[in-house]
Amino acid sequence: MTDRYAVIGNPIEQSKSPLIHTAFAQVTGQDLAYTKVLSPLDEFGQTVDAFRAAGGRGMNVTAPFKLDAFAYATDLAPSAQLAGAVNALKFEGDKVFAENFDGVGLVRDVLHNLGFQLQGRRVLVMGAGGATRGALLPILMQGPAELVIVNRTVAKAQELAALAQKSNAAGVSVRGIGYEDLQGESFDVVFNATSASLTAQVPPLPLSVFAPGALAYELAYGKGLTPFLQLAQQAGVTRLADGVGMLAEQAAEAFLWWRGVRPDTRAVIDSLTVPLV
Ligand code: NDP
Repeated sequence: MTDRYAVIGNPIEQSKSPLIHTAFAQVTGQDLAYTKVLSPLDEFGQTVDAFRAAGGRGMNVTAPFKLDAFAYATDLAPSAQLAGAVNALKFEGDKVFAENFDGVGLVRDVLHNLGFQLQGRRVLVMGAGGATRGALLPILMQGPAELVIVNRTVAKAQELAALAQKSNAAGVSVRGIGYEDLQGESFDVVFNATSASLTAQVPPLPLSVFAPGALAYELAYGKGLTPFLQLAQQAGVTRLADGVGMLAEQAAEAFLWWRGVRPDTRAVIDSLTVPLV
């Protein structure tokens, strides 16, 4: 029998997940159907209950339900615990297993698709929202020289830095700061995990924040050369990336978790890439 999976969100029309997972199922020969589920804002639990009752095996979770999924789960993976948010669910009997693959997807994209190592590098993450929370542990596991979180609301950056420091077995230095503290600092990798790009804005970054040979990585995808990537270009950065690879890699991690086989992501990334011009 065909196994059923879905992505749940509100709105959900824009989601690329059905396209991605259907492509993965084809290349791996897995018999599954993957659809979009629009849940009313206050009925996440009932909507997931109904999907499970109809035989659903797993779900991806997108905005605004990542915290609802966290509360709904019975078994949280460490990635989901540190993130305080869930982006993938697996249903087995009464159990609801929960993961957050956003961060691991980001790191896989940087390492495997872009060929850029994080070990020993100075890493700056802009923003202290859900995407940053998911990214911290996977980044720390790569053993960077230091990890700095910069955020408009400085207290949130400091709070996340303290949280990350606690679960940081490698003993990497983690700091939370404000944008004005960036003067005189430079980094080998700058991740833009703010939502500023979604409204064509960019936080106040000094050009000097990009070290020679730096990678500028925009987590948003499909937007071409965002104001952040334009700023990086002005600073002389030539290694630019957006989050399309992260999207494909987190999907591949979920697929592996559900189906036991890891699909190759290259064709999906190529089909979804919007040129950075
Ligand atoms: P959240 O809403 O959880 O967090 C947004 C963050 O952006 C906050 O830290 C907020 O600061 C900051 N911010 C928003 N506007 C501005 C601004 N104008 N100037 C400075 N800081 C600003 O968002 P998410 O963490 O869920 O998503 C962040 C980005 O990551 C989005 O672009 C999203 O599309 C992308 N993303 C990409 C994924 C992928 O697969 N490629 C997966 C998940 C997310 P403050 O705390 O001060 O409000």
